[in-house]
Amino acid sequence: MSVPLFDNLEIKYVANDILLIHQIKAKGNFSTCDGLVVLPKSGRNSKTIILDVNIEPKYIKGLNKIYGPISNYVCTHGHMDHTSHVHAWEKYGAIVHAPNPEAPYLLDLHKFYEGFGFNEAMDYIDIQKFGELNGFYKCHNVIPFEPAASLKFENFIIETISFPGHSKAHVGLFLPNEKILHISCLGFDQPKRDVDGFGPWYGFKECSIEQYLSDINYAEDLYIKKAEFLTSSHSYIAKNPDRSPFNYMRKKINDNQKRVDEALKTLNFQLDFEEKLKQLLELDIFFPKKKMEGFLLNIYTLWESWIIRKHLERSEITNK
Ligand SMILES: [Zn+2]
Repeated sequence: MSVPLFDNLEIKYVANDILLIHQIKAKGNFSTCDGLVVLPKSGRNSKTIILDVNIEPKYIKGLNKIYGPISNYVCTHGHMDHTSHVHAWEKYGAIVHAPNPEAPYLLDLHKFYEGFGFNEAMDYIDIQKFGELNGFYKCHNVIPFEPAASLKFENFIIETISFPGHSKAHVGLFLPNEKILHISCLGFDQPKRDVDGFGPWYGFKECSIEQYLSDINYAEDLYIKKAEFLTSSHSYIAKNPDRSPFNYMRKKINDNQKRVDEALKTLNFQLDFEEKLKQLLELDIFFPKKKMEGFLLNIYTLWESWIIRKHLERSEITNK
């Protein structure tokens, strides 16, 4: 589709009446995510429903013109790349739904700051700047749901699937009638088959690698047994029985472990856990922090410290 307004959007058909939307270029690194547009279908939904399409407001305006009116919007968790522009969908009439305990983060940036533990490492002003960079504006009203709840809009059914390894609220969206599994931020982030992204992301205190691995297995099983198509917040569309997205995610976690283990071998074994963590952080194993300053340096340092900490805890090198 090459409407001028949409030069920066990729719009792909997943099924007949379900589109995957991807914003190609964006201002902040954490300002957008791909999601689904569920077009009206007789006997199912009379108005368009939007599933986790966090893109810049001018594109939301354009999509609303073509596909509106919009009845409901479903957000999959409270990370900034899933919340920053939801206010614009609300402005065009969507009722916004989001999972607990992160639903309030769409209404109040300070709750995002406290909820993800930024407050233990930096001042609120850093998160205000981060919000500004990613174009965050709050919503007026959000209807919370519990992870793993089923949602029904007219006759359109969504089974939300709890994937808490990434964040407490994080859910995938399974559309049983359309046979689509949208795994949101589980870590399948390959724009193309042979291009790698970061992979599974677990840079907060609440994240867990063990939980992640079990979420990946659960998602794979559900996809193989019940879905035809696999979509995610940052990837191409996979088709059953292609299991490569799941192998990719496991491999990325494994590779991260190897990177930490290799770096660990260069350190003095006598050092205690916190000292090892401190020295590993200085190596910029995951993020180029030496090139950063100010609030971004603070934020990336917090994320990397949790990623390294989780690998340190499961490393077999430390236990020797
Ligand atoms: Zn996320």
